[in-house]
Amino acid sequence: SEPLLKVTGLKKYFPIRAGIFGKEVGQVKAVDDVSFEIRQGETLGIVGESGCGKSTTGRSLMRLIEPTEGEVFFEGKNVTKMSKEELRKARRDIQMVFQDPYASLNPRHNIQKILEEPLRVHGIGDAKERKEKVAKLLNIVGLSSYHAQRYPHQFSGGQRQRIGIARALMTNPKLIIADEPVSALDVSIQAQVLNLMKDLQEELKLTYIFIAHDLGVVRHISDRVGVMYLGKMVELANSEQLYEKPLHPYTQALLAAVPVPDPDFKRETELLKGDIPSPSNPPSGCTFHTRCPFKMDHCSKEIPMLVEVEPGHSVACHLYKDGLNNDNNFAKTEG
Ligand code: SF4
Ligand code: MG
Repeated sequence: SEPLLKVTGLKKYFPIRAGIFGKEVGQVKAVDDVSFEIRQGETLGIVGESGCGKSTTGRSLMRLIEPTEGEVFFEGKNVTKMSKEELRKARRDIQMVFQDPYASLNPRHNIQKILEEPLRVHGIGDAKERKEKVAKLLNIVGLSSYHAQRYPHQFSGGQRQRIGIARALMTNPKLIIADEPVSALDVSIQAQVLNLMKDLQEELKLTYIFIAHDLGVVRHISDRVGVMYLGKMVELANSEQLYEKPLHPYTQALLAAVPVPDPDFKRETELLKGDIPSPSNPPSGCTFHTRCPFKMDHCSKEIPMLVEVEPGHSVACHLYKDGLNNDNNFAKTEG
């Protein structure tokens, strides 16, 4: 069947301006030719260090940021070609949950007003229906209807993120783009919010894009995971494949940084060396070559393409030029 969301060749370049006349002196390729699909009911995790383009990707999908190039299809319709009015309607179906719920909740509005806002924007329901919907959603996210009269500062971080999730659900969306929804929360609270999101997904048949900077967070919620580095998707795989057999040296390094409870787990790669290069001046060829322990001569010259090397598992790295069965294939983790 047709994917719920299909992204092809997505690019977002930001101009770098300098001087008093703001002359364009260069470009930051924040998202550079990213393609992926999501099936209905699925969770796609998108992971990478800050500055890798994961948030820009998330925001470009519903044109909160206008893409420079590429196309986004939602239920077969081209979002990038929609008129303002068509886009406004489509946004009922695609909602976002943000990292910092406090910053995204108006401190002077009570929860009733905050949660009603998406309904008012989309002209859904009368006052009574909106009130009922707010009470229902507060219950669904584990709060109570009496919370509707309170203000954001009266809630804990975890509760505020529940409110952020409730707000995203007000228009009965099909797709939720969650940008680091638990990163600002205490570790003890993270699991609660993740479990809530998992339950909601089942109950409401939601599809998620779950953006995070660490592979540990998305492990138990994602069906598939895409790893981004400097604006590019460098590996995309089913969760099992990615966590059991990471292929890209960057993914291997990210995984080595995740604490694992299994003492038999053998770490075969070094941790990440050095800082992430500036996205305004990315390294040539494979942009990971400045930090890669397996760098070969041609890595700084040729850009590796994202290629499917086994069913459901794609990687952009010259080590896999001849597929997975090459004996010289150093980063292979088994055998
Ligand atoms: Fe490392 Fe080369 Fe693969 Fe890039 S293409 S990740 S530098 S081995
Ligand atoms: Mg971000």
